[in-house]
Amino acid sequence: MIDYKGRRALIEAMAGAMIAHADELTALDQAIGDGDHGLNMKRGFEAVLADVDGLAAKPIPDALKAIGTTLVMKVGGASGPLYGTLALALAKELPADPSRADLARALKAAIEAVKARGKSEIGQKTMLDVLAPVAAALESGADPVAAAEAAAEATVPMKAIRGRASFLGDRSIGHMDPGARSSALLVAAIAEKLD
Ligand code: ADP
Ligand code: MG
Ligand code: MG
Repeated sequence: MIDYKGRRALIEAMAGAMIAHADELTALDQAIGDGDHGLNMKRGFEAVLADVDGLAAKPIPDALKAIGTTLVMKVGGASGPLYGTLALALAKELPADPSRADLARALKAAIEAVKARGKSEIGQKTMLDVLAPVAAALESGADPVAAAEAAAEATVPMKAIRGRASFLGDRSIGHMDPGARSSALLVAAIAEKLD
C-alpha cells in the first residue's frame, strides 16, 4: 500500500526530475521544436509541487486527477493537454492501491486516450513511442526503466509525423524527441520510488 509518504515521494520525484532536466528538455526542443518543452514541464510540475501536501493526502486516483488538471492548465503547449489527458485517464483506470498488472492495464488505456487527444499513433516520434513500450514492459515483466530509455533513444532516427517537429520533415531525423525524453525521465522517477 502506498501511503502519504510514498505518494509524496512519488510527486516530489516526478517534479524533481522535470525541474532538474528542464535545460536538457529545452535543448532537445530547440533542435526540432520551439525550445519550450523544459520550461513547460518545469512550470507545470512546479505548480504540482506547490500543492504537494494536499495532493499526497489524496488517494492515488484523486491525486492523479488533480495533477492532470494542473498540467493541462500550467504546462500549455501540446504536451500540457497530452500529459494532462494521460494523468486524467490513469486517474479513471487505477485503483487506490495498484498492482503492476493494474499499472500496465491503466497505462494502456491512458495511451489510447492520449492517441485520441493528439490524433497520433505509435511511430510518429512522440511521447507515445516511450509510453507504449513501457506499458508492454509492465505487462511482460521486463524492466520499464530500461524499456523507456531504449525507446527514447529509438526516437532519434525517427521522422516526426505529429507535433511541431513534423514541420521539419526529414530534418527532424537525428534528434531525440523532447516528449519521449520527458516521458522516460518520469518513468525512471516513478520506478525509483515504487521499488
Ligand atoms: P509544443 O510543441 O506545443 O511547444 P512541448 O514542446 O511542450 O509543446 O511538447 C512537445 C512534445 O509533445 C513533443 O516532443 C511530443 O513528444 C509531444 N507531442 C506533440 N504533439 C503530439 C501529438 N499529437 N501526440 C502525442 N504527442 C505529441
Ligand atoms: Mg515546444
Ligand atoms: Mg510551444
